[in-house]
Parts: sequence; C-alpha cells; structure tokens
Amino acid sequence: MSAPVFLHHESSLRHDPGPHPERAERIVAIEREVAARGGLGWELRESRPVEREALLAVHPLDHIRFIRELCESGGGPIDLDTSVSPDSYEAALHGAGGACMAVDAVLDGARCAFSVHRPPGHHAEPSRAMGFCLFNSIAVGARWALDRRGLSRVLILDWDVHHGNGTNEIFHASDEVLFVSIHESPLYPGTGPAGDVGSGDGVGYTVNLPVRGGSGDDVWVSLVAHVVAPLARAFAPELVLVSAGYDAHEQDPLAGCRVTDAGFAAMAAWARAIAAEAGAPLAVSLEGGYALGALARSVAATMEAVGSEGAPDPPAVDRHPVAEAALERLAAGRWSAALSRKWARP
Ligand SMILES: [Zn+2]
Repeated sequence: MSAPVFLHHESSLRHDPGPHPERAERIVAIEREVAARGGLGWELRESRPVEREALLAVHPLDHIRFIRELCESGGGPIDLDTSVSPDSYEAALHGAGGACMAVDAVLDGARCAFSVHRPPGHHAEPSRAMGFCLFNSIAVGARWALDRRGLSRVLILDWDVHHGNGTNEIFHASDEVLFVSIHESPLYPGTGPAGDVGSGDGVGYTVNLPVRGGSGDDVWVSLVAHVVAPLARAFAPELVLVSAGYDAHEQDPLAGCRVTDAGFAAMAAWARAIAAEAGAPLAVSLEGGYALGALARSVAATMEAVGSEGAPDPPAVDRHPVAEAALERLAAGRWSAALSRKWARP
C-alpha cells in the first residue's frame, strides 16, 4: 500500500461567502496543523475539477448552470445561509473532483485519502444548494465509485453534527449505498428522524441516528462502534466513505454536542477498523467544523488514526444506552430485513 493522500486545491481559499463561519481560514488552519505535525506522512496532491459526466450523475444540468451563472455574474446569496462569489463554482468543482480522486486513490492502493476542500457538500440536494453546500461532493464520489469503478456497495458514514439531507435524498431509493448519519436533533436542517429508513429498493439502506444536544464521546463513539460496525458487517461494503464534519466538537459554535479531539480520533479509528474488517478501502471528505483550532486538531487526529500503518486498534467503548436503543429500533424495523435479504442471495 502506498502513502495516504491529502487532496486539496487553492480554489478552496477563493470561495468567499462573505462574513461567514464557513470561511477560508478553516482550510488554512488545517493545513498549518498538518504541517506543524510534519505532514503526518501523507502525500499532498492537487485535486482536479470534477468531470462533467460525474457531476451530472448527481446534479441536473439546470442546477449546475444556476451555480455557474450566479458565480459568473458576480455571485450573491442563494438562501439565508448559502452565498457564492465569482470563484465559488471553481471551488465546488474541485471539491467534487477531490472526492472522486480520493476514491480513485484508495481503490488504486493508497492506504487512505482525505479530500480537504470547501465549500462542504452534504446538504446539497440534486437541484438545490443549501446549508453552505453547492454540489454534494461525497455523493459524486460514491457515484463515481459505482459508475466508473464498477463497485456495487458503498457505505457512507456521515458524522457531521448536521443531518446530511442531500446525501440522504440522493441515495434514498438505492440499495447500492448504505447511508448512515449520526447527527444532533433538533438542529438544522431538521431532517433525518430515526424513522427515515429509505424508500423503494433503498428501504433499510438509510440509517438515521439522531442524538440529543450535549451528547459527547460516549454517545458518538459508541454509535460508530456498536451500531455502524454491525451494519457494515451485514452490508459488506466494497468502499467506506466518511462525510467528516467536525462541528459536533465541544468547542464548535454552530451546535450543542460535546465531542472532543480524542472522540474524533476514536471515531476515525473505528471507521478504519470497519473498513479493514470488510476488506474495503477508506476515503474521507471534509464537511463542516467551525472552531478553527478544534477543527484543525481533530482533522489531524483523524489523519493519524486512518493513515497509520499496522492493524487497526480502535479503542474499546461501552455500549451506551443510546446505542442500545438504536440497535433495538433497527432490529425491530425494516432495515434488517432489507439487509439480510440482500445477503441471503448467492
Ligand atoms: Zn455541519
């Protein structure tokens, strides 16, 4: 296996939504922290813009044109939270391109890959930019893996504190992508109740794990270790993607959860163990995270956990009552039927 790959592009620094928590300094802080830790043994790579066909696999042409033309005309607000500047279109193309390149990197033998771009992507619906997001990079990366690399099962774990409504919608009726989201509720965007389990062929392949404000490492890490891990065991993904937001951090100003640097390191170690058990590579894509120091340290901690050599060694964690309740709910619901029916096939 070759060195883990850190994907970035300078256009991330030129996307300017005005005075906003989702600001260029986020990327600067991350890159400074990684440099201060000697680069952590990761190979730096510049992302390319996403291929047109790959973007069209998730977003209709009208939406892509809308973003492009708004940027070309000087930018402006899309909704109360989401604005673009002249360079935002280019930045978003590289964000989606970075996700595809991260997928390629790990499928071609890199130990791990992390796409570190802005704007984030997981709130973007096929035809709607929202929640600071223009194009849904992780969804574009997952479709790339399915359409271009011939995979048939991709697991997306979304640990951003906000529900990844865009990713949830894009793969709602698909059994090719198991989308698992841990998110604070109630909180923006208000979607992702536990009862939303997907639709059509995708029933059981959307797993929403809402948690209360104030939830800390004990809840979040327990959900990854005791709920996501057995789900992954049943699904047997060929690729594991993480929508890695860091706004569940106790220092983050946008939400009320209490995850620490060590909590993110533990979730990352578990993600790596889950992928390793499935024999699947792991790629990570940056979503939110707005406390600069906490974001930078937690991203570096993630890189240390997912990029290390040797066998995964995730920390033992108690089965929190929140995880117990989620397991009971899932066992009683339709998800397990959908998953086991799939595995019963020869
Ligand atoms: Zn978020």
